[in-house]
Amino acid sequence: MVASAHSLPIRITSVAKSYGSAEALSDVSLDIQAGEFLTLLGPSGSGKTTLLMALAGFVPLDSGSILFGDRDVTLEPPHRRNVGMVFQNYALFPHMTVLGNVAYPLKLRGLTGAEAAVRAEEALSLVQLGGFGERRIHELSGGQQQRVALARSVVFEPPILLMDEPLSALDRKLRETMQAEIRRLHERVGATTVYVTHDQHEALTMSDRVAVLKGGRLQQLDRPDRLYDHPNNVFVADFIGHSHLLPTEVKGGRVYLRGHPVKHNKTPVPNGPLVLMLRPERMEILIAGQDPDMNELSGVVQRHAFVGDALMLTVCLFGETVITVKVPRLRGLLDSVPDPGQPIRLGLHRDDTILLPAEGDDHG
Ligand code: ADP
Ligand code: MG
Repeated sequence: MVASAHSLPIRITSVAKSYGSAEALSDVSLDIQAGEFLTLLGPSGSGKTTLLMALAGFVPLDSGSILFGDRDVTLEPPHRRNVGMVFQNYALFPHMTVLGNVAYPLKLRGLTGAEAAVRAEEALSLVQLGGFGERRIHELSGGQQQRVALARSVVFEPPILLMDEPLSALDRKLRETMQAEIRRLHERVGATTVYVTHDQHEALTMSDRVAVLKGGRLQQLDRPDRLYDHPNNVFVADFIGHSHLLPTEVKGGRVYLRGHPVKHNKTPVPNGPLVLMLRPERMEILIAGQDPDMNELSGVVQRHAFVGDALMLTVCLFGETVITVKVPRLRGLLDSVPDPGQPIRLGLHRDDTILLPAEGDDHG
């Protein structure tokens, strides 16, 4: 993270917004650091765009407040907020040249002529489009058009940059290239960046921190690795990465899976029902001996599937629960994989044993 001299922290406090009886945002509070790259992640309809548009000033709030640094912008109109914006559909002016598009925010701020042209040209070289200034928008590919939109969003050195699913119109390969480019651009310009996506992989790879939304409510705000390893609830566990959620029984402060005590690090154990989260790559194949820190799960291998970097095993646990286990294709490891139809013993280390409240705890 690079905090430029003029990037600003954002403080969102108890923000709410309804459309009729539908709550698009409900009691959302979020502190974003100056220069941070923060992603709003959630399924369609979870309130991501509403929150981003509230930051930009296009969506008036029912309650709550938004601060940019010390400045309360809750009631400020969009043109006074001085934020850069990038949208999914680029929103470029088709009748203007590339340079004209990029220089437009400068023109709005009263800067024209040679100085504006120099700054627009600089912004274009930041996105690898140096020398493209005289082209027409329709002469550019989708990826190039989105780069023009990026250049336009940073040309006036905004302290805050807002992006709403900027890559979702691009194919996968280009999307991955652009993810790295946006991250690099962020490091160069240093603006506090709020990025919206419904793609968990994109969120994990790009962000300093991720805010997970569901139904207009904040589920968890954390670093990508913390979200993945220590989700707060079943929704986050399910939405980020792959996981299986197995019901357990809690009796007298102990957790049991199918009658067997579960080794874990959760203290104190809550009273309510808990589920055990299993990540496909966190289980290992046990060959012999006993490890006191390892939970043992026995099952029967149903299928092997080759996926390039790994072997995916479909395993039936306790004769009823089907899970997948990811085995890296390392020499030696593969020799220990039982054939389909054969029994298997899986180990889950207590440090990887995550227990979550059985119900989505998203309504407080
Ligand atoms: P996301 O960007 O996560 O897909 P949105 O913020 O667009 O979600 O929408 C959140 C909820 O608010 C959805 O249920 C959506 O239907 C509703 N909504 C958003 N904008 C409007 C609007 N202008 N009028 C009515 N309902 C809206
Ligand atoms: Mg949206």
